[in-house]
Amino acid sequence: MAATIPGIHHVTCITGDVQKCTDFYVGVLGLRFVKKSINQDLPDTYHIYFGDYLGSPGTAMTFFGWPTWPKQRSGSGQVTTVAFQVPAGSLGFWSNRLQKLGVDHEKSNRFGTEALALRDADAIEIELVAEAADDRWTPWPDSQVDKENAIRGFHSVTLTLAETAASFDLLTSTMGFRKKSVDGKRTRFETGEGGPHAVVDVVESPEGPLGEESIGTVHHVAWRTADADSQKAWRERLIMAGRNVTPLIDRWYFKSIYYREPGGVLFEIATDGPGFTVDEPAEKLGTTLSLPPWFQVRRDRLDEILPPIVVPTTATTGAH
Ligand code: ZN
Repeated sequence: MAATIPGIHHVTCITGDVQKCTDFYVGVLGLRFVKKSINQDLPDTYHIYFGDYLGSPGTAMTFFGWPTWPKQRSGSGQVTTVAFQVPAGSLGFWSNRLQKLGVDHEKSNRFGTEALALRDADAIEIELVAEAADDRWTPWPDSQVDKENAIRGFHSVTLTLAETAASFDLLTSTMGFRKKSVDGKRTRFETGEGGPHAVVDVVESPEGPLGEESIGTVHHVAWRTADADSQKAWRERLIMAGRNVTPLIDRWYFKSIYYREPGGVLFEIATDGPGFTVDEPAEKLGTTLSLPPWFQVRRDRLDEILPPIVVPTTATTGAH
């Protein structure tokens, strides 16, 4: 029996403009730029990471910088909303901040909890949910957003699926999620101890459109596992359940396996460690181009071809 999945590890999206993306996540949302690295499968392109002070599992929003990719709307078979947890009572602060920075947003409500809905620099749908029960985050002292109002990591992700039956079965029978509540076409599941960072919503949308891997979409969501042993157990369990799972892949900051759930969404299961301090001290995270040892030979070329990224030190306009 595999261990339980504690919650979300990271969420990875596609941006067309790494600078605008950085301006938004650091200068508007107040996350820390924790790692500047490359996409290991397309090593001439960036993989950049935003999170809490350490990029703790459950806080890291990451982006592939693929400026030449098409830009299309998200759709079924994808993660269509990424929700962050903010303290109850902080939505007034956030609404003022977003308004001041020119970021359109509206109030929403998810299963009785208040939230703000907005879009990031690539038009990915973001929510700030006023429910923060998570004490695993490490505040970043230099954030533009004070600790009392700061994002504490992920709250949940929403998957949009054309058909849900087989996906519900995988989530509950194989992955250990529990069905929590239903609101129209939206069904909520929890894993581990439940609550913020351990929540996935599934929205049934048979009418489409089908999502495509493009700028402004979520590429995959990664779920947490403790270590390589529990990851191996997950791999075996998922293969038994008929999933086509990749071999274990060393991402340097964590180890990963990938598979698609039956509705088409790309899932990853990633180890909590070793984490982003594996090659930079905590106070220097994100300040240099970090490359896994096996990519070091490419450093000179990468320094030449990758565009510079300036991490803002003051609030940036979110208009786009
Ligand atoms: Zn990933």
